[in-house]
Amino acid sequence: MKKLIIAIDGFSSCGKSTMAKALAKKLGYTYIDSGAMYRAVSLYCLQNGLISQGKVDETTLKDRIGALTITFETDADGFPQTLLNGVNVEQLIRSLEVSNAVSIVSAIPFVREAMVDLQRKTGEHGGVVMDGRDIGTVVFPNADLKIFVTADATVRAKRRYDELVEKGHPEPYELIVRNIELRDRLDQTREVSPLRKAGDAIVLDNGLLSIEEQDAWLMEQVNNKIHGAS
Ligand code: C5P
Repeated sequence: MKKLIIAIDGFSSCGKSTMAKALAKKLGYTYIDSGAMYRAVSLYCLQNGLISQGKVDETTLKDRIGALTITFETDADGFPQTLLNGVNVEQLIRSLEVSNAVSIVSAIPFVREAMVDLQRKTGEHGGVVMDGRDIGTVVFPNADLKIFVTADATVRAKRRYDELVEKGHPEPYELIVRNIELRDRLDQTREVSPLRKAGDAIVLDNGLLSIEEQDAWLMEQVNNKIHGAS
């Protein structure tokens, strides 16, 4: 059976990664979290003093980015973990500090170039579900299936809030809404690879859908592709 490249793009905290992970598991595909790569670079910048007053020291980062290694492994419970230079940074890259830095770092053209290269290498053989902002438009413009996920910012903030509470790192709800709205704006208006729906992407507004409904809808789209219905 054909091994598809599935691109899931959309706004921050839309549940893209939850749905992409579940789909990859169901299909026996590899899940690739492209946002985690940008988050890992942002964490590197924060840990090494390369961000100050909202500005990135691009000269130093450019010198060093080729030497950074970003890899993924699966933990004992089957959850994907992100490694930066061999160190597991999965928890650290989800902090609000990194969330606040990532839109600035991901807008830098040479950072995007390096990450897009890495994403293409990881997914070129198919059998992948990759989530992000520009997977269907830039990374894999010929992806077999493209989904564009959206939901109201307040719905997304509430989900993110619940997630952080569950992980034991709560942050004030107001700060989360502001971070999401800011990231939406920065992601949509940046010059390089702005967040936008690919012409041939299917829109999923999941604000009112349960996870089960969403998963069923997604499987239908995949089956249509595999069996040639669309
Ligand atoms: O998906 P996640 O929210 O973890 O992504 C973090 C940030 O990384 C986004 O807000 C966006 O700035 C950036 N990103 C991107 N392109 C991607 C994936 C993420 O610019 N393909």
